[in-house]
Amino acid sequence: MTRIIVCASVLVFCASVAKSQPQNLDNVQIRVEPVQHNIYMLVGAGGNTTVQVGAEGVLMVDTQFAPLAPKLMAEIRKLSPGPIRYIINTHMHPDHVGGNAAIAKLAESDPALPLKIIAHENVLNRLTATAPGQERFPEAGLPLDEYGTPSKNLHFNGEAVIIYHEPNAHTDGDSLVLFRGSDVISTGDIFTPGGYPFIDIEHGGSVQGEIAALNHILQLAVPAKTQEGGTYVVPGHGRICDDADVVEFRDMVVIVRDRVRDMIHKGMTVDQVKAAKPSRDYDTEYVTSNSFVTADRFVEAVYKSLSQSPGPGKSSR
Ligand SMILES: [Zn+2]
Repeated sequence: MTRIIVCASVLVFCASVAKSQPQNLDNVQIRVEPVQHNIYMLVGAGGNTTVQVGAEGVLMVDTQFAPLAPKLMAEIRKLSPGPIRYIINTHMHPDHVGGNAAIAKLAESDPALPLKIIAHENVLNRLTATAPGQERFPEAGLPLDEYGTPSKNLHFNGEAVIIYHEPNAHTDGDSLVLFRGSDVISTGDIFTPGGYPFIDIEHGGSVQGEIAALNHILQLAVPAKTQEGGTYVVPGHGRICDDADVVEFRDMVVIVRDRVRDMIHKGMTVDQVKAAKPSRDYDTEYVTSNSFVTADRFVEAVYKSLSQSPGPGKSSR
């Protein structure tokens, strides 16, 4: 099987390490959705892009696919004429990092105000570990401002921006980005409302890390009194969400994990577990006809990550 690494999504975009973008992006329009304060969500093809704008310039979280860079930049320029100072990549999948180099080129940074591309060091390691015959990731798009600590802080456009590494969740290089003043969290593919999470075991993902990361989002998010509003959450794919949406998603992952774990304890094989359909009551909400992460794929990933090792369970925080 080829190394398909598509992200779970209601908006399914097939991508692989070797073939990094869908066939035709010509007709893709970028939709700009205000999130809260000076934060916007830009939806096109691939993962959602989060943009923070202000007096110091522009910070982006994730860059979709290279051919969309001019359209993304055109929309960003409607929000701010300032320099693009930061790109933060939530993880290494091509539908989140594919536009890095093209955005860097279009940004035409002033050397005095350079563009920095930030990601966890595992993202840089994976993007530079090219298999024979595989296209190299463009140098200009590499996250050379990588970090290897549990978190990294910036202060930009008048607010603290905190980047947290979430170990072994969707992949082994996931970052959450908390905009502390605006009260917005950009999650990457740890959280994909409307689609089962893609636990990319081949790239270090695990269900235990996924649950730990979702619990961390809930620790950081504070709902308003009505349970609606308060902290807003920009998911890897799908609509703008709040604390209640993350609770629902986390509960689903925990319940399916518990059911699969019970079946493993009874000695059931992966095929027997899939046949028992432990996610059945959630499938109508999380699977559509074009979902990449089918119920079987999700259950299999949960089974495999529980069988391989207990996973990190807790992060180092
Ligand atoms: Zn992904």
